[in-house]
Amino acid sequence: MLTVENLKIYYATPVGHVKAVDGVSFEVKEGEVFGIAGESGCGKSTLVHSLILRKPPMVHMGGKALFKGRDLMRLSEEEARRIRYSELSIIPQYAMNALNPTKKIRDIVWDLAKEHGQTDREEVEKLLRERLAMVKLSPNVANMYPVELSGGMRQRATMVVSTLLNPDLLIADEITSALDVTTQRVVIELLHHFMEEGIVKSVIFVTHDLAILDKIADRIMIMYAGKVVEIGPTEEIINNPVHPYTRLLLNSLPRMGVQYKKQKLSGIPGYPISLLNPPKGCRFYTRCPYALDKCPHVEPGLVRVGEGHYAACHLLGGEEQ
Ligand code: SF4
Ligand code: MG
Repeated sequence: MLTVENLKIYYATPVGHVKAVDGVSFEVKEGEVFGIAGESGCGKSTLVHSLILRKPPMVHMGGKALFKGRDLMRLSEEEARRIRYSELSIIPQYAMNALNPTKKIRDIVWDLAKEHGQTDREEVEKLLRERLAMVKLSPNVANMYPVELSGGMRQRATMVVSTLLNPDLLIADEITSALDVTTQRVVIELLHHFMEEGIVKSVIFVTHDLAILDKIADRIMIMYAGKVVEIGPTEEIINNPVHPYTRLLLNSLPRMGVQYKKQKLSGIPGYPISLLNPPKGCRFYTRCPYALDKCPHVEPGLVRVGEGHYAACHLLGGEEQ
């Protein structure tokens, strides 16, 4: 479905390039939920947004993103516009404010459908009613403005709009972060439902919350300071993490089934490095409790540690891939 190879996405600033995504490779298969996790500023949002729409100061500095055989980094604006929503769609972070506030839901949907070649308004209205019912919203929502909807309703309306044209790949960027646990569960169930119904084939789910990925992702990629530090099947990442950063990230989460208040969150001491002039070696060395002498100077490559499980750390030794 999607093959990303050595992708580099930087931000051009007056003082130099911020290396937000710096040589990232991964694959998303048909039928899977692929989770991307890491602290804010690790490059996960930049990465997924660069697949959909690159606007200055975002610059593509190298690498490919092959989506159904085409390189997303080399599409014309017209080609990109054509596949957006219909083949590749995103539910953005702050999804609650993503809908045009000056239009009713039915007009937002009609504009979108028209732009992608639909001519039969009746049919589009019918589809909208079906999809609203699917996310348990009343048909009256079609005649409402986004501001008239509560937060949870707006979130679901945004999901309807993002998936209306049955995109093969749906990107969800931090869509559960602002929600309470119950609403989070509803959103996750809806994503599953969209997949079961064949409305979307694959999902990239971006979050800082590994506990959510444990529930929905088939595989997880952990990013730190613009790099992939670990990638593998969800079970492996959650139960057998090998990278010091992944381990700290998991320790900083409340464990499932343990009451939140009773548990002390350890957090990860220190702050991520500046991506303006990142060190040559491991980008985590300033915060790593296990750093070796060579860590600041030599960059660790991804090594295989299990079935489909890779991590980049000098402690692992092994053959680099
Ligand atoms: Fe820590 Fe070195 Fe491994 Fe980086 S390469 S995570 S600094 S031990
Ligand atoms: Mg983000």
